[in-house]
Amino acid sequence: MRIAVLSGKGGTGKTTISTNLSINIENSMLIDTDVEEPNSHIFLKPNITETKSVKVEYPVVDNEKCTLCGKCGDFCNFNAIIPAKNTVLVFQESCHSCGGCKMVCPTGAITYSKREIGKIYEGDTKFGIKMKYGELNLGEMSGVKIIEELKEITKNEDIVIIDSPPGTSCSTVAAVEDVDYAIVVTEPTPFGVSDMKMVVEMLREMKIPFSVFINKAGLGDNEVYEYCEDEKIKIIGEVLFDKKIAEYYSEGIPFSTKIPKYKKLFNDIFEEIYMEFRK
Ligand code: SF4
Ligand code: SF4
Repeated sequence: MRIAVLSGKGGTGKTTISTNLSINIENSMLIDTDVEEPNSHIFLKPNITETKSVKVEYPVVDNEKCTLCGKCGDFCNFNAIIPAKNTVLVFQESCHSCGGCKMVCPTGAITYSKREIGKIYEGDTKFGIKMKYGELNLGEMSGVKIIEELKEITKNEDIVIIDSPPGTSCSTVAAVEDVDYAIVVTEPTPFGVSDMKMVVEMLREMKIPFSVFINKAGLGDNEVYEYCEDEKIKIIGEVLFDKKIAEYYSEGIPFSTKIPKYKKLFNDIFEEIYMEFRK
């Protein structure tokens, strides 16, 4: 079973909720697919046992064979390969490794080479769960390949909690597209609600069952509660705004290890989702 934890924007507590959920589910694995800014490892502190380089392909043009016909440039939707007056320019960072330019080249001038865009780290945690997280190299434009590899290497795990990228980008879609259930984390503020609406629309479009988790409850107003009621969206849990929780956060400590009522809350949430999944 795969459960994605997502949010409309960064900083709403997505990582706090996904890490606290996973450490309260026996034999689960957490994967952090927020590869531009992975944070889960700060709380789970894994003992890294394996590091894997993630590579993508990009075209290399043999000038001896190239006739500067322009077909590769016409084909590429991303302007990653551009035939100029005397040579073909390749912009590696813009290439999506689709393989199309090689297919349309009439002279066989294009081959592919590989370059690293980031890494995947794997390890055990003191909480009895395993974790894997991806990290995109600085300056890279897309972490989708890392997310796909993270999903591929965890596809046989029984229970996977996915800390997803925020918002509704290609990376978010890649992270959640095949999950069984999603939890949308939001704060009870007008900004929180408006960011959350886009995620709700995306999940409905993708036909993924979901519920909402309210972080820092009591901080803002009632808009999120009214919205969920109007839209018939279940609120699966909430964590009160609490200075002590903020302190645990700043110390990198999952708060449910310190406050027993939240340990029970996360146990109950998983049980509820699991029962729904088994129906
Ligand atoms: S592999 Fe695809 S994206 Fe990359 S340069 Fe060729 S056509 Fe463009
Ligand atoms: S399609 Fe092939 S021959 Fe034509 S410009 Fe591109 S690399 Fe050169």
